[in-house]
Amino acid sequence: MKLYSTNHISPEVSFREAIFRGLPADHGLYMPTEIPTLPQSFWDNVENLSFNEIAVAVSEALLGEDIPETDLETLIHSALDFEAPAVKLAADLYCLELFHGPSMAFKDFGARFMAATMSYFLGQSGETLNILVATSGDTGGAVAQGFYRVPGISVTILYPKGKVSAIQERQLTTLGENVKALEVEGTFDDCQALVKQAFLDEELRNQYHLASANSINIARLIPQAFYYISAYAQLKKTGKELVFSVPSGNFGNLTAGILALRMGMPVKRFVAATNVNNVVPEFLRTGLYTPISPSISTISNAMDVGNPSNFPRLKALLGHQIHDYLTGYFYTDEETRRAVLDLYRKYNYLACPHTAVAYLGLQDYRRETGADLTGVFLSTAHYGKFLPEMEAILGFTPEIPDRLSMAGEKQATVTDTAYDTFRAYLKKNLI
Ligand SMILES: *Cc1c(COP(=O)(O)O)cnc(C)c1O
Repeated sequence: MKLYSTNHISPEVSFREAIFRGLPADHGLYMPTEIPTLPQSFWDNVENLSFNEIAVAVSEALLGEDIPETDLETLIHSALDFEAPAVKLAADLYCLELFHGPSMAFKDFGARFMAATMSYFLGQSGETLNILVATSGDTGGAVAQGFYRVPGISVTILYPKGKVSAIQERQLTTLGENVKALEVEGTFDDCQALVKQAFLDEELRNQYHLASANSINIARLIPQAFYYISAYAQLKKTGKELVFSVPSGNFGNLTAGILALRMGMPVKRFVAATNVNNVVPEFLRTGLYTPISPSISTISNAMDVGNPSNFPRLKALLGHQIHDYLTGYFYTDEETRRAVLDLYRKYNYLACPHTAVAYLGLQDYRRETGADLTGVFLSTAHYGKFLPEMEAILGFTPEIPDRLSMAGEKQATVTDTAYDTFRAYLKKNLI
């Protein structure tokens, strides 16, 4: 696969280069120069394929030139050993559960696949690599789990002290070994600024092989296309057109759905469901793209994004067809809380606030269009990750899986927001 930059200044690169660079120098985003459509025979038979068989077929079409098929198979089997079931709640209403991976959020798909592909390429050259990542919560957990014990790779995760949930903090800080947590006495923006500065630090870069792991890495995007196609495979038997409602922040998840569409997946429409950080729904309504700065805090905090970084990709993939395939809605915290309750009372289904936003988007689309369709809303995290909010909404404490209550000792280094302190830490700890 060859990739170009959406800013069209930086040169085309190979997949391998794109994943280690993360971002092109012109600050665009890497996108495949060509998107292959999967043959009709694939779509005719897709309901008989397992998740991993679908994943292999999709990645073979995209990455066949970069990684031999047998290696891709091995890589996918080790990275994606969890399911993405489309759970039926009612007639024509399905929840695509994307939280069965190690950190119990959909980001596991991207993080595990990226870790596996990086490790694959590193293994070929015998190099080592340092991943630096700033997190406001969910990304860090998935990246920590994704890279945990991956040979040749060390991970440093920066998170804002006191600003991530107890469960999120446990996921970041209790693994240890090659996963190091830095508790920054500042905000998420401070964490991000420190990481950015490290990437601009020539001397550091000359000494160490650094890479980022944030959601703009193309290796995180590709595996997210797998579960849309798997959902299609599971729901093809309904015989109705599919609509996916995607709870969105940086819009990586939704962009991957559009990638699946471009690869030939039959689908009627996608709903971009957001909280009050409603830049994309407003763009769809008015044609004006107006970032929100600073972003607004909500109970679906993994979607508190005021300037979605994947928007250029979305535009590149959809162009003037954006209104043919995309509808946007946004919701307040009050509406979101009511939807969590609604899902519980009507369907006896517990959903996290992000998932509830997607449910609302689907219901509004159905109401507005009156269309007879199979509706799928994506569940991006297990509700147990947002326990205090769930308790406040439901009025009782729901059961949470053992995986989330995992004990383990917190291992984190506290640091201030000065770059010099961070740099000194890196020089001591990078490999
Ligand atoms: C990251 C995240 C989102 C937003 O996904 P994007 O790909 O950034 O749009 C939604 N829900 C949860 C639980 C998340 O962690």
